Amino acid sequence: MIEIRDQIILLGTGTALSSAKRLSPGILIMLKGKPFLIDCGPGTQRQLAKIPEMEITNLDHIFLTHLHVDHVSDISIILKELLMLKRVREFHVYGPSGTTSFLNVLFSDVFNYLNVVFNFLKSQDCEHGVIFQQEDIRVSVAPTVHGIPSIAFRFDSPEHSITCSGDTAPAPALIDLATGCDYLIHECSFPDGIETGSHVTPKDLIQIANDTNVKNLVLTHFYPVCEAELISMEKIIKQEFSGNVIIGHDLMRIML
Ligand SMILES: [Zn+2]
Ligand SMILES: [Zn+2]
Repeated sequence: MIEIRDQIILLGTGTALSSAKRLSPGILIMLKGKPFLIDCGPGTQRQLAKIPEMEITNLDHIFLTHLHVDHVSDISIILKELLMLKRVREFHVYGPSGTTSFLNVLFSDVFNYLNVVFNFLKSQDCEHGVIFQQEDIRVSVAPTVHGIPSIAFRFDSPEHSITCSGDTAPAPALIDLATGCDYLIHECSFPDGIETGSHVTPKDLIQIANDTNVKNLVLTHFYPVCEAELISMEKIIKQEFSGNVIIGHDLMRIML
């Protein structure tokens, strides 16, 4: 039995565009021996298999920031695997508005041969406030800004606080949610100069990091155009944010 330390493991730090370096989004947070998976883009199941401490049958909770395919596509294979491993314990999926109907269509219509997942699958559409409290671990959400329903998640234990932004443009509710966190894992889709209205760039992150006053800013969700710019993107943020800045990569472990 391997002792499981509290930690963050970045499973995928890329986007919907293929990259030899980065898989689509997925983050694993281990708190008090329990795994919490945030998003599960293509490749997440395989990345989980690379984590020696991680037994997929121990996974009880997936948190979906939004329903873009690069953030959710592995939910089908993860649930199929749990079925094949004869899971009977409840399995919870938390996501924005539309999550329950998405899962219903997926497993009642598209993959209806898997509809027995409903024997253990419980889903919850979330908008804001505390959505999970178990022993001394609490999860809260706030809406973000991404063109479709989208939310950020904050995890609190007595020792640690971590917020995961998901995909978002600068979002006022996320600032409130993440204020004072030890770690803010935030998307950083593009270098400055590429504005999409639904993502952020380093100059936005300076403001977000300072407004939330987080200790550690972890950047993820890099489009391929970022690869040649990562050093300068980090430098731009560090010039005006005095906290720690971490450029994420796939399978990076951050020990808490
Ligand atoms: Zn994305
Ligand atoms: Zn998205």
